[in-house]
Amino acid sequence: MNDIRAELKALALEWGADIVGFCRLDTPVEGFSYALSIGVKLSDAVLATIENAPSFVYFQHYRTANALLDTVAFRLARAIERKGYAALPVAASQSLGKNDPYRGVLPHKTAAVLSGLGFVGKSGLFLSTEFGSKLRLATVLTDMPVQRELPVLENGCGGCTACQNACPAGAIFGEKPTTDGERNFDAEKCSRYMKEHFQDIGRGSVCGVCIKVCPKNKL
Ligand code: SF4
Ligand code: SF4
Repeated sequence: MNDIRAELKALALEWGADIVGFCRLDTPVEGFSYALSIGVKLSDAVLATIENAPSFVYFQHYRTANALLDTVAFRLARAIERKGYAALPVAASQSLGKNDPYRGVLPHKTAAVLSGLGFVGKSGLFLSTEFGSKLRLATVLTDMPVQRELPVLENGCGGCTACQNACPAGAIFGEKPTTDGERNFDAEKCSRYMKEHFQDIGRGSVCGVCIKVCPKNKL
């Protein structure tokens, strides 16, 4: 299985991913007990266009990063199927529809944390060891028994409250983060604020301020 893991990781990196991890899920999702977590780093120059509000440049870039992730996840799922296992790619911005618009079949950050790639910050964002929160994530669920390569990390925010202080919506609670970020910020409040104030930029679907201010991204 180590060879297959190395092969899948090499393919994902070749196709455009910047980080790749493997894990066994605590609870099966859609009948799958294992997952590949993949991340694509966002452009520093694009993030520099965010001041105290989202930017058109960031909105377009966000969609491009999602499209790349979805392509890599799809291609990985096909590669896994060719090896005789089942695989379900979970889109970077998956939503379960109007009854649960802020959630996909699983939080990508949960698979990323279980893979040892980083931790969930007080912002509710996933902070990778290599790139902080300057990245987007996607997941491939599978029945291929791929075990974690790295230890699960503790939260590393310490006493920082930069994202809580900067959030224009007051949506970040500043509490001890959880693996899925559920109790760290109010997704509905964040979304409502963005839609009210930035309809002209991607109908208020992205912000980026909590990424921009995080000191872990300036390392
Ligand atoms: S995306 Fe913007 S509004 Fe939403 S939690 Fe982050 S800083 Fe606050
Ligand atoms: S800004 Fe500070 S508190 Fe917020 S996620 Fe980054 S390190 Fe953690």
